[in-house]
Amino acid sequence: MIINLFPLFLITFISTETIQIKKHKPMDNQTCLECGEKIVGRSDKKFCSDACRNAYNNKQNKTISNYMRNVNNRLRRNYRILSESNTEGKTKLTRSKLESLGFDFDYITQIVTYKNGSQYFYIYDKGYKFLDNDWILIVNKNS
Ligand SMILES: [Zn+2]
Repeated sequence: MIINLFPLFLITFISTETIQIKKHKPMDNQTCLECGEKIVGRSDKKFCSDACRNAYNNKQNKTISNYMRNVNNRLRRNYRILSESNTEGKTKLTRSKLESLGFDFDYITQIVTYKNGSQYFYIYDKGYKFLDNDWILIVNKNS
């Protein structure tokens, strides 16, 4: 019995040691996300100073803003193209015509599928639906 239990205890001991080593290692190598300096202190710290935290967060926010600005610009351009192309409330245009005006089909704000199964893509209150061949029907929402 003793012979059988002893190795089990040893294995348990060794694996506990290994886990502790693995847990401690990253703490020793923790570096600041902004400047890459070694961080002294708590293992969950990501920055060496408040200045680095602020600099890092400002960059993150700027990245998000630039991305959002690009998306907003594309949406605005799409909206303008649909508005200018559709002065009668409802009109038909070809897909190639819309593309030649700079319309980007990747940017919409909403997809609405009506009970009759027809699907409209909206940029705010300006929408369109794909018709046969190259044709597209442009509409205003609620009209
Ligand atoms: Zn730093």
